[in-house]
Amino acid sequence: MKKTIRDLDIDGKTLIIRCDLNVPIKDGVISDDNRIRESLKTINYALDHNCKIIILSHLGRIKSEEDKKGKSLLPVAIRLEELLGKKVLFVNETRGSVLEEAVSNMNNKDIVLVENTRYEDYPDNKESGCDIELGKYWSSLADVFVNDAFGTSHRKHASNVGIAKNIPSCIGFLVEKELLMLKESLDTPKCPYIVIMGGAKINDKIKVIDKLLKKADYLLVGGGIANTFLTALGYDLKKSIYDEDSIEYCKNVIKKYKDKIVLPVDGYCSSEYKDGIEVDYCKLDNVLDGKMVLDIGKESIELFSNYIKDAKTVFWNGPVGVSEFKNFEYGTKKLCEILDKSNAKVIVGGGDSAAAAIKFGYKNKFDHISTGGGASLELIEGKALPAIDIIEDK
Ligand code: ADP
Ligand code: MG
Repeated sequence: MKKTIRDLDIDGKTLIIRCDLNVPIKDGVISDDNRIRESLKTINYALDHNCKIIILSHLGRIKSEEDKKGKSLLPVAIRLEELLGKKVLFVNETRGSVLEEAVSNMNNKDIVLVENTRYEDYPDNKESGCDIELGKYWSSLADVFVNDAFGTSHRKHASNVGIAKNIPSCIGFLVEKELLMLKESLDTPKCPYIVIMGGAKINDKIKVIDKLLKKADYLLVGGGIANTFLTALGYDLKKSIYDEDSIEYCKNVIKKYKDKIVLPVDGYCSSEYKDGIEVDYCKLDNVLDGKMVLDIGKESIELFSNYIKDAKTVFWNGPVGVSEFKNFEYGTKKLCEILDKSNAKVIVGGGDSAAAAIKFGYKNKFDHISTGGGASLELIEGKALPAIDIIEDK
């Protein structure tokens, strides 16, 4: 296990904590503050240890000057202040005299939140390109670095790897929990171990399936991933999304793991990708012309439920339907209900699946809802995450 914030002497020191405060913000209003809440444990621990705390985070992607508008962390500073019940000084730049002065004026237990690290991405891609000077500069502001941003740990950026190269470093509580749940629980899962996969990022994700099936007893599939498997089997799902480039791969996986793959048999479809329109029920071997399948149906849920009821471990990534639309939330909502009733250890990874589970009221009902989409899949695949790899072992 990696060194955690408990393993370093941090009393009274200046810490840089890399958090993942990348929350959805529209017109200055945060619609889901889950990631800010998940960061509080490490921040509070540092406060209890009399630290001076500098927080870094990214927000969205910055590819132009225009992108910077609406991507400031100011609304996050305000929300963080409310949640902590404590002043958070927001510095609206990523480097320079204002930041340096704010840091040199800090007293113990003061908190400074630095502007969106990805402001450094335009024009020179310094944050995402892991610019050496930028990493050195940020690390010069503090004594100790804490990586508590799991969602970006699969990326080598100046605000994680760039800093960790220069000063004593450790992981925070959020990253520790992610590693315990995603790595230790799923490396040696209690069986039956079931993986459920859905969603729309087919090409990104489908290659993990081969790895997952080495350990999993069954793979239950929904969403665009299921459509791709079904198409590989010769079904015609008409206007439904699937990934042509993954057809060969699916054929091979089916050949190799025929008895482990469980595909949906029915679904709900419509003629457009839109909420509030007419919905038809259909069997997947009989999708009408001009229709797209946007959710799985009752029989599929029953089928999935028969596998889940005996499971000891479940890893779920990707909604099985368009759960953002009221008309197509049935499958994903039912799946949450079944998972909640089962005795299995339930671990959810993936941004949209996590958002769906939280939206349907299961935030505290599952064993773990990961804060990282891409990072959680890479970890499960067995890939090294650079921003965690660089931290020393205990
Ligand atoms: P996650 O973020 O959980 O890893 P993805 O990003 O891969 O999941 O996919 C999530 C998206 O997949 C959601 O926006 C959802 O609407 C979409 N989706 C799920 N099922 C379907 C479907 N049958 N057709 C089109 N989109 C779907
Ligand atoms: Mg997603």
